[in-house]
Amino acid sequence: MDGMSASNDPTAWKPASLRNKLFIGGRWVDGVEGGTIDVINPHDGSVITAIAEAKAADVDRAVEAAQKAFPAWSSMAAMDRGRLLLKLADRIEEEQAELGRLEALNTGHPFRDTQILDVPRTAVTYRYFGGMADKFEGSVIPVEAGFLNYLEREAVGVVGQIVPWNFPLMFTSWKMAPALAAGNCIVIKPSEITPLSTLRIAEMMQEVGIPDGVVNVVPGYGQTAGARIAEHPEIAKVAFTGSTATGRTVVKASAGNLKKLQLELGGKGANIVFEDAFIPAAVGGSAFAIWHNQGQACIAGSRLMLHESIADDFMEKFLGLTESIRLGNPLDPATEMGPLTSKMHQQRVLDYCAVAREEGGEIVTGGAPPDDPALADGCYVRPTIVRAKPSDRVCQEEVFGPFVSVMTFKDDAEALEIANGTEYGLGSGLWTADLKRAHKFAGALHAGMVWINSYKRVNPGSPFGGVGQSGYGREMGFEAMREYTHPKSVWVNVDAQIPPYYPR
Ligand code: NAD
Repeated sequence: MDGMSASNDPTAWKPASLRNKLFIGGRWVDGVEGGTIDVINPHDGSVITAIAEAKAADVDRAVEAAQKAFPAWSSMAAMDRGRLLLKLADRIEEEQAELGRLEALNTGHPFRDTQILDVPRTAVTYRYFGGMADKFEGSVIPVEAGFLNYLEREAVGVVGQIVPWNFPLMFTSWKMAPALAAGNCIVIKPSEITPLSTLRIAEMMQEVGIPDGVVNVVPGYGQTAGARIAEHPEIAKVAFTGSTATGRTVVKASAGNLKKLQLELGGKGANIVFEDAFIPAAVGGSAFAIWHNQGQACIAGSRLMLHESIADDFMEKFLGLTESIRLGNPLDPATEMGPLTSKMHQQRVLDYCAVAREEGGEIVTGGAPPDDPALADGCYVRPTIVRAKPSDRVCQEEVFGPFVSVMTFKDDAEALEIANGTEYGLGSGLWTADLKRAHKFAGALHAGMVWINSYKRVNPGSPFGGVGQSGYGREMGFEAMREYTHPKSVWVNVDAQIPPYYPR
């Protein structure tokens, strides 16, 4: 399926075939109401394809298909479920370049990034949970003599999964891999903006032998398909990744059948550089923390906090690196920063540049689309550095773009106060040579994840998630397996003599 043109121009690549229908019960079908949604290339605004639009009735069909598949899937030997996920991981690696191009085309992620991050991380996630399937054990509880009390972990049933547009390939693997390993069936709604890689993964799942109905994909809008998943009486659990505002709506909608919830929401990551940090590493790490994926990451280091004694030196180097980043067509292997994923989002980020100016912030660089006429139709924004005050909106609200707010601090106490001074608590990083300070800060930061002398490390074994308005529940690792199972406590009277409760 190589759609590279005869000229071998990587930017002329087109997918040789595309799945653009709903995937329900193993079949590619149109929506009941027959609508479609255009999927746009964020590089130039062209339409890549029109996908079938799922509405509430399609979610209902998908839930029925998942319910039908559940008894066989949940009772399949865990090793056999795992084997299918391992095959899927291999398959993804075989198609690394194709999947990477598809993700680049639809999301704007530079192809380069998809090859070192998105696709490999997706494959290792399926592999990790494929291996996990038959190693996630129950336990025996030491209760009173004569009783055996054991704890089983049961699949919860049909799970609904709702994902955003920023890392579709990776985030769907973080959700689907543990859910499948634990024996659940899935109704997943990718973002209406970036559904293509999820549909391709569903196709691969069928190719490697995951039974029909185990995974159902219903791309559609949040207010229709998403809302139906959140309220559906037969969906036992919803795993949601998206904004804090939508997360609250999902919580309310889930109340009807008290479904289990897992929420991965917004963030405003503090990235703190102390005076004793190794500056070259901190500059490079801080650039990755915010510029990777155009800053469209919930864990982006979007608040850069510099000790006042090193601020000038750091800023000079950070600015130099930032201004050297190559913006361009994401399909070009030389591109280091692509467009934002949609026009609407580009405007939102530009609006925040205006907010920064109104608040008296100094725009050190960026703050506008690039001048390059070749990028004029795309959703590009130049990487933007703003000096701001901790109380400014641009230091409190999630911009979710190539936009970093820089602040200075004079001592550790002030650094901690600024770092913990937002409603969010997802990921934070710090750069220091002082191990005592590093551990002290790691303990004191209001965050679900802390990186010391690095930023944005993720691994399928390491729990991912936040506190405060960043949500609750965890993806990855054993924590994810707990999220996708119910504990069942079983009591067996092996040899207990129980005196009668009502002696007669
Ligand atoms: P969003 O909340 O607008 O949408 C997320 C998903 O929810 C989409 O699939 C959307 O269609 C769906 N949705 C919208 N309204 C809904 C409703 N009423 N009921 C059910 N589903 C609905 O977020 P977005 O703009 O797509 O993504 C950006 C946000 O996601 C940012 O706030 C970012 O921080 C957050 N995010 C969080 C994490 C994390 O792991 N914590 C990761 C990535 C992104």
